[in-house]
Amino acid sequence: MSSSGTYVNYIGGEWVAARSGETFESRSPGDADVLLGRFAASGAEDVDAAVSAAAEARAAWRRTSPIARANLLHRAAEILSTRVNDIGRELTIEEGKTLKEGIGETGRAVQILRYFAGEAQQPDGEHYPSANPDTLLYTVREPVGVVGIITPWNFPIAIPAWKIAPALAFGNTVVFKPASYTPLLAVRFIEALAEAGVPAGVVNLVTGSASGVGDPLVDDDRVAAISFTGSGVVGKAVAQRVYARGGKVQLELGGKNPAVVLADADLDHAINHLVSGAMWSTGQKCTATSRAILDASIADEVTSRLVERIEKLVTGDPLNAQTQVGPVISDEAANRILGDIESAEREGARLLAGGMRLSSDGRERGNFVAPTLFGDMNPESRFGQEEVFGPVLGITTVQDMDEALAVANGVRYGLSASIFTRDLGKAMKFINGIEAGIVHVNAETPGAEPHVPFGGYKSSSSYSREQGKTARDFYTQIKTVYVDLPSPA
Ligand code: NAP
Repeated sequence: MSSSGTYVNYIGGEWVAARSGETFESRSPGDADVLLGRFAASGAEDVDAAVSAAAEARAAWRRTSPIARANLLHRAAEILSTRVNDIGRELTIEEGKTLKEGIGETGRAVQILRYFAGEAQQPDGEHYPSANPDTLLYTVREPVGVVGIITPWNFPIAIPAWKIAPALAFGNTVVFKPASYTPLLAVRFIEALAEAGVPAGVVNLVTGSASGVGDPLVDDDRVAAISFTGSGVVGKAVAQRVYARGGKVQLELGGKNPAVVLADADLDHAINHLVSGAMWSTGQKCTATSRAILDASIADEVTSRLVERIEKLVTGDPLNAQTQVGPVISDEAANRILGDIESAEREGARLLAGGMRLSSDGRERGNFVAPTLFGDMNPESRFGQEEVFGPVLGITTVQDMDEALAVANGVRYGLSASIFTRDLGKAMKFINGIEAGIVHVNAETPGAEPHVPFGGYKSSSSYSREQGKTARDFYTQIKTVYVDLPSPA
């Protein structure tokens, strides 16, 4: 809901300003002169009001039939589907991915709402045989209660959708704290749910900073569960605090995703996927390809072809149809990425393409980092180990499949991994040996469909999964029911 560019919280079915009256701005990462709006800079008292509204709405929403919940999600999907182009454009302006990607992500949110409308109507328990033939023994999955949803900026509508849609479908009420860089997209998603008729208090939006909104939400005892996607440092601190008060928590964190190219691969295909996997969405995907692990026999050819391709990428205004790579999210992110590039060079990696800020042709008003390629990435170096979260790909050369697998696994992350090969045996060896929650054979690391489980191994996740049928595990708890006859038969 906007009034001359000012957007407010959604609490208890009302659009309301922060109690303090304070606001913060959202500006485009591609052009700091473009202001998307002013948003409620909320604090603990706003979080308290939102959690109270969610707690109050809980009993009635839990009693609302899953069929009725499904109908509301379908209606929200229909509303959103009529706005995909407009909201996709806003996404591009606010987050910086290209227009095709912005529209694609908004369409993904529609698809997710539809999927979970369907899931709401699926079986929610199991029937078991009992030691006593007269006992009716079954389980039923019930909502966990009030759920706090904390999301990053890099998928500003798809990630909220894949958390909020299952939370609501399975009977929970929600308090949603979006990333401060992308509040407009959060407002757009909540508008669709509100207009669809989701009852007051069932979904609440509170915009504002990590300390103003995030901390009180994480620490509120009435919030049974927190679903968090973001950086490892923040996620682990959030988890400790939620566990300390006995809550349930789910973390989806970063990655350092490898793509292995073996000697027998279709190199044209592999190179296309290395470029798209590393550079689309400006490399700001948790599943982005950040390590190219190349068999020594094809490494020179693949490297020189990657240099050629990466140097030609068009980086600029993400609304421009020719643009392939948009800005990074903020000036601080650009500086951090440039710092990581400098430190990679100091560690001995060979800069082959990019490596600098782009500040010509209007790009001086935004945060543009040239798509960057390094050779000789030492797998043990910081660059070989840590997420850069920008348009930067590092190449490591290996002698054989075993070394490729060891390098691929030699990091603390384990989100997504790819192998390019025509050899089924090697593909199977990789599938079985890779420590990653998502594995692709002959496709880029970022590919993910919304109806299957999503999440990582090791430090990329909390051994939990989102999306698909597994979403039910987090957003419900199991009740085991024994029904015996009033008197023995
Ligand atoms: P971030 O800095 O960790 O922030 C994520 C969210 O947490 C934001 O809403 C942030 O609020 C909030 N937050 C920060 N400190 C908090 C605190 N103390 N208590 C409660 N909430 C707090 O991460 P980001 O920069 O937005 O996102 C990039 C990271 O997300 C990357 O590491 C990427 O790999 C990861 N990611 C993972 C997945 C996945 O599914 N595995 C998907 C996408 C992104 P503010 O915005 O107000 O600071």
